[in-house]
Amino acid sequence: MDLSFSPQELAFQAEVRAFISKALPKDIAARVADGSGPTRDDMHNWHAILNDKGWLGGTWPAAHGGCDWGPIKLHIFEEESALANAPRIVPFGLKMLAPVLMKFGSAAQQSELLPRILDGRDWWCQGYSEPGAGSDLASLKTRAERDGDHYIVNGQKTWTTYGQYANRIFCLVRTRSDGKPQAGISFLLIDLDTPGVEMRPIRLIEGGFEVNEVFFTDVRVPVANLVGAENDGWTIAKYLLGHERTNIAGTGFSVQALAQIKALARTVKRNGKPLIENPLFAARLAETEAELEAMKITNLRMLSKAAAGGQLGAEPSMLKIKGTVIRQSLNDLARRALGPAAAPFPSEDLDNLAITPPNHSHNAADYFNNRKISIYGGSNEIQRNILAKGMMTR
Ligand SMILES: Cc1cc2nc3c(=O)[nH]c(=O)nc-3n(C[C@H](O)[C@H](O)[C@H](O)COP(=O)(O)OP(=O)(O)OC[C@H]3O[C@@H](n4cnc5c(N)ncnc54)[C@H](O)[C@@H]3O)c2cc1C
Repeated sequence: MDLSFSPQELAFQAEVRAFISKALPKDIAARVADGSGPTRDDMHNWHAILNDKGWLGGTWPAAHGGCDWGPIKLHIFEEESALANAPRIVPFGLKMLAPVLMKFGSAAQQSELLPRILDGRDWWCQGYSEPGAGSDLASLKTRAERDGDHYIVNGQKTWTTYGQYANRIFCLVRTRSDGKPQAGISFLLIDLDTPGVEMRPIRLIEGGFEVNEVFFTDVRVPVANLVGAENDGWTIAKYLLGHERTNIAGTGFSVQALAQIKALARTVKRNGKPLIENPLFAARLAETEAELEAMKITNLRMLSKAAAGGQLGAEPSMLKIKGTVIRQSLNDLARRALGPAAAPFPSEDLDNLAITPPNHSHNAADYFNNRKISIYGGSNEIQRNILAKGMMTR
């Protein structure tokens, strides 16, 4: 198994690095680096820059305006993006709905919707989870009842990321109640400006707004907005979740965060010495770095297998667990390095203390916000179940 990049892959890496360093606006990178962004406009503008370059749909087939990137090129692009503090590509339209439309959508849906995803006319959000239907997604209750050439939708979705920026939502809805719960689910596209749709923000623990509740009251949705066959939505849902879990390990983010913590620990002093010389802190740092190195190699091993056409099965669950645990450990190390400056509401007096490094104001927010990463995309407990099942049934 080859874990090093080929000359072509190294050339691609150099090309991506050079492009991002030239094309990524400095103010956007600064907001990503200091944790105050990216804003909605930052994400939108970065998508537009990538679309002009032809890289926004990197993994899409050329026939749909993509570049046919395989898993290794995608990995290189995402790692270089993270290292340069580029906004992460918003996945809902580009990486979730688009592959679904390409596999299950009608020709009319593909030709109408795919170009609108690429050029940013549509911002999609994901309507899967409901109160009472998260890990146990098949128990979802939002109903869609047929009325001529429309469905009438009633129910509620929750945790809808960036719903406040979206104009459309792809939803799992219940179209049949008898039989197995999985057999009565359909995949429906809904315009958020349809009468009867109401979006309400949920405030997260660190005070930010990025998720929402969406309520549907007698919402009329054309039957033409159904993707695939009625009651066949569970197959589509599972296909989409497979795409959601790729690159959830986020090695680039961790590599970047580790470098920042090392820089911080060289600046911050404890008992007159740089923190990095403190044996306890250095041991914690080394432990996390060793975990990260092991995960990077595991990631490359899986990419190499996927690029050779191998089936990954339950292995991405391992990366999801490790990747998110490592990112949370790094948040914890940053908090320890900052000491009192990591308090959620640091006193202004701290700015006058010699121990306080600059750019600490978003640390607490990052720490609390990143509690989410071991929950979304299928919680880590569920990933452990998938792994255990995959390994024990081999
Ligand atoms: C920030 C954020 C953004 C999100 N964005 C979206 C979005 O855009 N669209 C969307 O549809 N959803 C979104 N989600 C929802 C996410 O997918 C769910 O939160 C997740 O699937 C868990 O479901 P739940 O919250 O209902 O928790 P529950 O399923 O109720 O689980 C509660 C706890 O019990 C554990 N648990 C549950 N079942 C088992 C089991 N069988 N074995 C062991 N432990 C178990 C879980 O791990 C968890 O710790 C988002 C969530 C968050 C936090």
